[in-house]
Order: sequence, then structure tokens, then C-alpha cells
Amino acid sequence: MALLSILHFPDPRLRIQAKPLPAVTAETRRLVADMLETMYAAPGIGLAATQVGVDKRVIVVDVSENQDQPRVYINPQILRRDGTERMQEGCLSVPGVFEEVERAEHIRVRALDRDGEPLEFDADGLLAVCIQHEIDHLDGKLFVDYLSELKRRRIRKQLEKELREGRERPRTGAATPSI
Ligand code: ZN
Repeated sequence: MALLSILHFPDPRLRIQAKPLPAVTAETRRLVADMLETMYAAPGIGLAATQVGVDKRVIVVDVSENQDQPRVYINPQILRRDGTERMQEGCLSVPGVFEEVERAEHIRVRALDRDGEPLEFDADGLLAVCIQHEIDHLDGKLFVDYLSELKRRRIRKQLEKELREGRERPRTGAATPSI
């Protein structure tokens, strides 16, 4: 296994539309293992392949308290969305920024698991937020896209300045895990 490096906004590779995987191969399993290791090390509760510069539709999530229940979704799709919910989100690709985002409260998801077996399930709460956030990544979308233009520009300038100055941002907030 290997730690992968996580791309930071405004890296243009975060805007690439990821491609569906025709099959789950040994290479896919290697990618999944590396993504899980990278997510836990960050630390984060979700990671999309797009965030590590791989344009494949693969996400990993772990919203369990002890970070011991990894979930792997390949080619994930949202079949249904119900209700709305606002939750504060953070993103490993936008370090140190935490903002409220409105998303669907309940979702129905279809995906393949890490063995290539089809899954279909309902999700709500943090898991639903996490899956929606990660599928956005696969579509080249970031949570800052839901904020005002002004706010997004300010975040971008701040991150670029810190990058120039070689400063490392705290990756997690006190209460909000990053995804
Ligand atoms: Zn994210």
C-alpha cells in the first residue's frame, strides 16, 4: 500500500470528470487500498479518486466512530434524493475551510463494492452527505462551488497565498471531519 498525495483547490485536475470502471480488477483493488490508507492518514472520513489525481469513479468512505468500517463504492450513482439538510462540511482538497452546504437528506445509491458485486441501499445523515460530496468530486465539483462567488474567490486567494508561502494548513477542524 502507498500513501497518495491529495490535490488541493484550485488544482485544475479536481475539475476532471471521472470515468466509470468497466470492471473491478487487481489494479482497482490496489487503488482502493491506497485510497483507504490515504483517507485514514489524512485524517478524513471520505476520499474520491479524483482527489488523488485518478480519473476513475471510485470513492471510499468511513463514517464510523472508530474508523473501522471502510465502505468502497465503485461507479456510484444516486437513484433518488429526498428532503434537504444543511450540514457543515470540510474537504481534504480545501484544507482548513469549513462551510455549511445544503444537500439531500435521504438518498438511494447504486454502486459496485470492492469485489465488483452490485449494491443498492438507502443512506441518510453523515453517510448521505459524505456520498453526495464524494460523487461531486467524481463530477469535478467541489463543496466551495455551493458558496457565493465572493466567498469562493476569497478562499482561493487564501489557499494560493499559503501555497506560495509554503505554509501547511490544518487539515481538520475541531468538530468537522473532512471528506
Ligand atoms: Zn472533498
